[in-house]
Amino acid sequence: MVEQGNKPHLLQSDPETLNGWLQQRGQPMFRARQVKKWLFEKRVTGLHEMTDLPRKLRDELAADFDLWTTQVVRHQQASDGTEKLLLRLADGGCIECVLLRDGIRRSICISSQVGCAMGCVFCASGLDGVERNLTSGEILEQMLRLQHLLEPDERLSHVVMMGMGEPLANLNPVLAALELASSSTGLGISARRITISTVGLPEAMDRLTRTAPRYHLAVSLHAPNDALRDQLVPINRRVGVHRVIAAADRYFEASGRRLTFEYVLLAEVNDRPEHAEQLASLLRGRPALLNVIPYNPVPGLPYRTPSTAAVQRFREVLERAGMVIKFRQRKGDQIAAACGQLRRVTPRVETAG
Ligand code: SAH
Repeated sequence: MVEQGNKPHLLQSDPETLNGWLQQRGQPMFRARQVKKWLFEKRVTGLHEMTDLPRKLRDELAADFDLWTTQVVRHQQASDGTEKLLLRLADGGCIECVLLRDGIRRSICISSQVGCAMGCVFCASGLDGVERNLTSGEILEQMLRLQHLLEPDERLSHVVMMGMGEPLANLNPVLAALELASSSTGLGISARRITISTVGLPEAMDRLTRTAPRYHLAVSLHAPNDALRDQLVPINRRVGVHRVIAAADRYFEASGRRLTFEYVLLAEVNDRPEHAEQLASLLRGRPALLNVIPYNPVPGLPYRTPSTAAVQRFREVLERAGMVIKFRQRKGDQIAAACGQLRRVTPRVETAG
C-alpha cells in the first residue's frame, strides 16, 4: 500500500476530484485551470504562490491536498549539463530521475517503478527487484521537480520513460501522467517527443496500441535471437523475440510513428559481426531506427564496454544492410545517471557517534 499521508495528492487527483472539490465550495471551474497553469507553466513550488487565487481558497487547498509527496534527498550535477535527483517517496522508497541537456534539447528521464522486475542482467535498476509501482502523481512529480532545475529561459522538450522500472508493467499510471505531460494545459510536450521504452511485453504493447498510439515507442531488444535474449533479458523466456517484434509492428501500424529498437552493446557478448547480421535480417523491411548503446558500467556486474574497433565493425555490418542506426551518446555517467545506471539506492542514514 502507498502511504501518502491522509490527504490526496494534488498532482494525482483526476480532474473530477478537483472539479468536485471546487464545486462544493461554489468556486468557478476556471480555478482548476489556474492551478494547472501555476504548476505546469509558471513552475511554482507552493500553493501560496498562486496569487490569482483567493487567499482563502489557497489555504483550503493546502489544508485538503498535498502538493508534493516526495523529498529531494540528493541533487547531483555533471559537467556535461546532466542533473540527477534522488527522491524519497512518502513510504520511504527511493527513485531517481534525470535531466539531460543536449543543444537546445532538454530531456527528462523518468522512472515508472521503485526498482524493476525484468531482471535484465546488465542493468542496475533491477538488481534488487521491484518494490512497487509509482502512482501517476509520483510520475508527474518527477517531471515537475526536474522542470524546477531549469533556468527561466529553458523549456522541457522531451520526456523519455527510460528511468527505473518497466513502464508497460505500470501502464495506466504512466498513461495518466503522460496525458498531462502532453496536454496543452499540462506541460505541453508534443506526444512525438515522448518516448515509452519497453523491454517488450506484447499484451501491454497491444493495449497501448489500442488506447494511446500517439507516443514514440522504443523496444529494448539487446539480442537478435531467443537463445541470447533469454540470457540477457530473462523475461524473454516467457515471451520470445518474434512476439515482441510482431507487437511492435502492430503499434507502428496504429501510430504511424517510426519504431526505435534499443540494443545495449556488451563486449564479446552481443557485439560480434554475426549478431549484427542476424539483427539486420530480423528487422529487415521495417522503417525502424536502431539505437545502439555501448554498455555503461555498473559496479559489480561482469560486463564490459566494447572497444571502438568492435563498435565500428558492428556499425559497418548494419549500415551495409541498410539499417538506420544511431549511437547513443553517453551522458551523465560522471554521476551514475547514464542509461542503466539508475538504481534503488537508499540514502545513507548518518548516525551520530
Ligand atoms: N524497462 C524499460 C525502460 C528502462 S529504459 C526498457 O527496458 O526499455 C533503460 C534503457 O537503458 C534500456 O534500453 C536499457 O536496455 C538500457 N540500459 C540498461 N542498462 C544499461 C547499461 N548498463 N548500459 C547501457 N544501457 C543500459
